[in-house]
Amino acid sequence: MDKIATPNKTKEIVTKHGFYFSKSLGQNFLIDKNIIDKIIKGARITKDSYVLEIGPGIGSLTQELAEAAKKVVAVEVDKKLIPILSETLKDYKNTEIVNSDILKLDLKSLIVDRLDINKTIVVGNLPYYITTPIIMKFLEEKIPVKSIIIMIQKEVAERMKAKEATKEYGALSIAVQYYCNVETILTVPPSVFIPQPKVESSVIRLDVLDKPRVEVTDEDVFFQLVKDAFGKRRKTLLNALSSGTLQLNKALIKEALEDCKIDEKRRGETLSIEEFALLANRISEEI
Ligand code: SAM
Repeated sequence: MDKIATPNKTKEIVTKHGFYFSKSLGQNFLIDKNIIDKIIKGARITKDSYVLEIGPGIGSLTQELAEAAKKVVAVEVDKKLIPILSETLKDYKNTEIVNSDILKLDLKSLIVDRLDINKTIVVGNLPYYITTPIIMKFLEEKIPVKSIIIMIQKEVAERMKAKEATKEYGALSIAVQYYCNVETILTVPPSVFIPQPKVESSVIRLDVLDKPRVEVTDEDVFFQLVKDAFGKRRKTLLNALSSGTLQLNKALIKEALEDCKIDEKRRGETLSIEEFALLANRISEEI
């Protein structure tokens, strides 16, 4: 089978099927085999891997995933792409196409029934507005996957990786780093897509940790505390937390901060994930 990820082959497939790109579904197709090879290498896919691909498009990345992995299940929401994928991927017997919105699927059952709970790697190049909700769905619902390799806007990748006391550090950095190690695999220019997107992208790999990075007694309190602390970025921790949604009284916050040896005048963005965990666990004792 010819390589799909070339400008000519992509144009040929699109024209043959009279396919129109949908902007709202984020349809920008990869046309550079080198970039795809780097994604597959960075994703650490081997002949033993099971891959859940989100948004295969016309199959540019899927074709190479099928050659590198043991099995691929690719979930595509656009029903116009299903007959195209049946044709472009017909030689790959280890590949199944599912026509569905990834956010509406029972992902746990899909992995148990069709993939492998110990060896599944998620790969996706999706519309940017649903990338963060999808990542959080996998992590918060503890869907059994080894890693998530996803293309996202460069700025969002930087926020996911950020450490305390940087301007990119925020609730998203903590949410992702609580569950994963984050690594950038490569940055991708607009020129390797048809049609070209407006922004530069990054491909990141999230390696899911066996257990969360820090021990937390009540995850709801921990994440709410993080949101409150970042919600009012210019306020001191004491003021941000006392006017936050946890509705903590000032005396309690002062005492908890003192016990955790955290200065009440510090701002949320200076606290490490370990300090947030310490503080959340102390506050959980009282509420
Ligand atoms: N993977 C292909 C590539 O790299 O050339 C296509 C990438 S394109 C940026 C995004 C794909 O995700 C499109 O095919 C789009 O129809 C699909 N998509 C968008 N929203 C989706 C959703 N909620 N569930 C599944 N697929 C979705």
